[in-house]
Amino acid sequence: MIIAIDGYSSCGKSTLARQLASALQYRYIDSGAMYRAITYELLRRKVDLNDLAAIREVLKDIHLDFQYDRAAQRSLLLLNGQHVEQAIRGWEVSEAVSQVAAIPEVREFAVAEQRRMGQQRGIVMDGRDIGTVVFPDAEVKIFMTADLHTRAVRRWKELREQHPDISLEEVEKNLQERDLMDTQRAISPLRKAADAFVIDNSHLNEAQQLQIALDYVKKVQEHLPIGKTIIP
Ligand code: C5P
Repeated sequence: MIIAIDGYSSCGKSTLARQLASALQYRYIDSGAMYRAITYELLRRKVDLNDLAAIREVLKDIHLDFQYDRAAQRSLLLLNGQHVEQAIRGWEVSEAVSQVAAIPEVREFAVAEQRRMGQQRGIVMDGRDIGTVVFPDAEVKIFMTADLHTRAVRRWKELREQHPDISLEEVEKNLQERDLMDTQRAISPLRKAADAFVIDNSHLNEAQQLQIALDYVKKVQEHLPIGKTIIP
């Protein structure tokens, strides 16, 4: 199966995706990390984000892959063979990534990579357009949401290690701006697929949200035609 998880920024998609993948022995692919890595490379090369020709040139040089990391117990993104996990989570990338992700050439490139990675199925992929655009035929689609303040507090706690000076207000503003850009962009805007199952985790802990998702996956499996049923 393909399990697509979409939703707003910092509402726990990657935590749920990782846990589901581990419970089902599926591969987890973080599509946001791909947009972050592209943004990181553009910033590193000091490319003007309005210069489409320059962006096209950089995309030609970018190769993305995920490699399972035993110590971290998850797949980490490789950008041209280099681990960039830490660098792509930084504040500079977070501030620019939604602008980069709205560029048609960038989306075309990332979506092609995502479909390539999903060819063998048996994956959980999270992002903004996975159930609507990348894999509209995914067997399981989950749309996650949580209230803005709850999300900002969670993200702020994560960011504080790398950026001790950052305020909760700044983080909340960044999330709000990203949500706005993601839902209003012309191409593949963030929206709930008509057949997605919604999980609002404002008042759920990780164990509760995982159980809800696993129950839903099981229900879908029970209704899949024979031959499509995959029990881990
Ligand atoms: O998931 P994460 O917050 O790390 O994603 C970073 C950014 O990448 C998002 O704010 C969004 O602008 C973009 N993104 C996207 N489509 C996806 C995944 C992420 O546009 N499928």
